[in-house]
Amino acid sequence: MNRHIPLSVPCFRGNEIAYVTQAIQEEWVSTAGKAIGNFEDQLSKYVKADYAVACQSGTAGIHLALLSQGIGKNDIVLVPTLTFVAAVNPVKYVNATPVFMDCDDSLTIDPYKLEEFCAKECHFTDGRLIHTKTGKSVRAVVVVHVFGNMADMESVMDVAKRYGIRVIEDATEALGTYYTSGKYAGRYAGTIGDVGVFSFNGNKIITTGGGGMIVTGNERIANECRHLSTQAKSDLLYFDHDEIGYNYRMTNLQAALGLAQLEQLEEFILQKENNYRRYVERDIELLPFRRDTRPNYWFYSYMAEDRDETMRLLAENEIQARPVWKLIHTLKPYRDELSYRIEKAVFYHDRILNLPCSAGLTEEELDRVVSVLKEEMAL
Ligand SMILES: *Cc1c(COP(=O)(O)O)cnc(C)c1O
Repeated sequence: MNRHIPLSVPCFRGNEIAYVTQAIQEEWVSTAGKAIGNFEDQLSKYVKADYAVACQSGTAGIHLALLSQGIGKNDIVLVPTLTFVAAVNPVKYVNATPVFMDCDDSLTIDPYKLEEFCAKECHFTDGRLIHTKTGKSVRAVVVVHVFGNMADMESVMDVAKRYGIRVIEDATEALGTYYTSGKYAGRYAGTIGDVGVFSFNGNKIITTGGGGMIVTGNERIANECRHLSTQAKSDLLYFDHDEIGYNYRMTNLQAALGLAQLEQLEEFILQKENNYRRYVERDIELLPFRRDTRPNYWFYSYMAEDRDETMRLLAENEIQARPVWKLIHTLKPYRDELSYRIEKAVFYHDRILNLPCSAGLTEEELDRVVSVLKEEMAL
């Protein structure tokens, strides 16, 4: 019997046990402790962000990011439909209204349709962009760097500037991705918009079990996120709280694990890149990552002829593959929301299959995946 090949599992080969053990021995396990600050420092240095705030999850990070922009009732946030639902749910947590946008061939938000929506469906009143049909104020866009692929940030930032909307980068899948040339050469995913969010969930490129990080170049945003994540405590001794806060802080145990993982991130990216190239060299067609970037190669997108049949055949051979997310504008809680010219997302939704991509995937395992895919192609 062949060993099971999972889609994406973590890789613990560094100082994980040492650092977590140290946190336990020092008896700092909860939402205070040295590792949290260290992890914030190391991560902000790595992505070259001015400020970083560690939090409980990527979802919590996006929630805090929206709150830090003062987004709430009567506001619209533009969101992609082709993404994980956690990129959109926080829009509802703050009682704002999502409007769903299409992707382009990079699977990330289509900046041309974004611009077209702003130009055709909205108008300016008192310097604010108003959605004509609903009268709501278009305040922000959530840009998701899908599967580690950088969105077209140059175009997105141009549109955002022109129409006065904030850019929240969901970089949960794209830690380590950066531009190698162009206007944003050297800039990392998550650090180009107003605020960016990373996730360290179990299937992400590095993991803390669960966890997230907010990065920004704006001190006020960082302070507000940190404040809200720690129950908005305004007096450390006398339990004074000046806002309704959240218990969203990362724990010291998670941060200890994160420090060990971050040390190995570049190695993980190299392994993922090698495996990506191996698939391609064996004539497995994977969607490309954006040119002019160094992607983190987090997930590989295979364009299947018959997605479900290919998935079934892989499963029969103990290989886990997964279709891309169901489009969010078709999900029960979002069916009645507005969407704008969604076309490409449907095309990609029907075809993409994510193939095994763990950093620890061996060449033998990869060859097993390839031989099953070739069998399917020959049918
Ligand atoms: C993983 C992920 C999130 C949420 O991160 P959590 O840490 O699991 O809450 C949000 N958006 C996208 C696109 C993700 O892949």
